[in-house]
Amino acid sequence: MSVPASTDRVRRFLLEEHPVRGQIVQLEGAWAALREHAHYPPAVRDLLGEAIAAAVLLASTLKFEGGLTLQIQGDGAVRLLVVQCTHDFRVRGIAQYDGTRLAPGFAQLTGTGLMTVTIESVQGGAPYQGIVRLEGGSLAACIDAYFATSEQLPTHVRLAADASRAGGLLVQRLPGGGEGTVSQAQDDTAWQRVREHAAQLDAHDLLYAPAESLARRSATVDDVRLFAGSPVRFECRCSRERVLGVLRALGEEEVQSVLREQGKVTATCEFCHRPYEFDAIDVAQLFGPPPVPVPDRLN
Ligand SMILES: [Zn+2]
Repeated sequence: MSVPASTDRVRRFLLEEHPVRGQIVQLEGAWAALREHAHYPPAVRDLLGEAIAAAVLLASTLKFEGGLTLQIQGDGAVRLLVVQCTHDFRVRGIAQYDGTRLAPGFAQLTGTGLMTVTIESVQGGAPYQGIVRLEGGSLAACIDAYFATSEQLPTHVRLAADASRAGGLLVQRLPGGGEGTVSQAQDDTAWQRVREHAAQLDAHDLLYAPAESLARRSATVDDVRLFAGSPVRFECRCSRERVLGVLRALGEEEVQSVLREQGKVTATCEFCHRPYEFDAIDVAQLFGPPPVPVPDRLN
């Protein structure tokens, strides 16, 4: 029997003895697919990867069907970064940046601004929104601040990304504890230990260490149970039909003029940069009159 691969999955783990849980995400294929049509400089790419991992970890704490959007907006080189993850872990994301102002480091990249997390349920209702300042020197610090200010459970997040992988780890102290022979103080000690061990992991561990090893190293002396988890995949909601709708809205005159100049019309999805091409026949079908019915008799 083969063990399920940990890449492109988000996997939960629990301490058997204490109310502490964790989530591990390591993306490879989904991370490559998300960037297939976009070519980011390394600094922007890594920030986008960390944001994707963060969105998956945040979505893994949702208790309903819906979606989560994480947005970074500041006055640094990265003007806008938007990532989305659904409750069933379909991800997409983009970054807009000024290539002349790129400098390493979170503070230099994002400048002064805000991180916004918006959570929407498919059932409708008002979306939940949490906003924190871009402070603390890393995106992970902003996510920790988000958890602290949105009055959720004590949580610590680690994030990393490179050209091959994007990943992260979330550990969380659950309510309750002090059950059976275990005291509340022992639960608190276990949580502090897990938090510290998570903080010690380096970027290479987060991205390339097997999930089993990450869970075991976080839990140290305690028994830990790691679940198979859920697959994560890249999926943009764009389609040829949606892009045609945009062209239709532009109007026939505009589209025909592009067609005359360039011989074809290329429209790019703003979320995944996937190009869609349309030729003269496509455009004629889009704006042309309905097909003429074939007469019963030709003469
Ligand atoms: Zn798209």
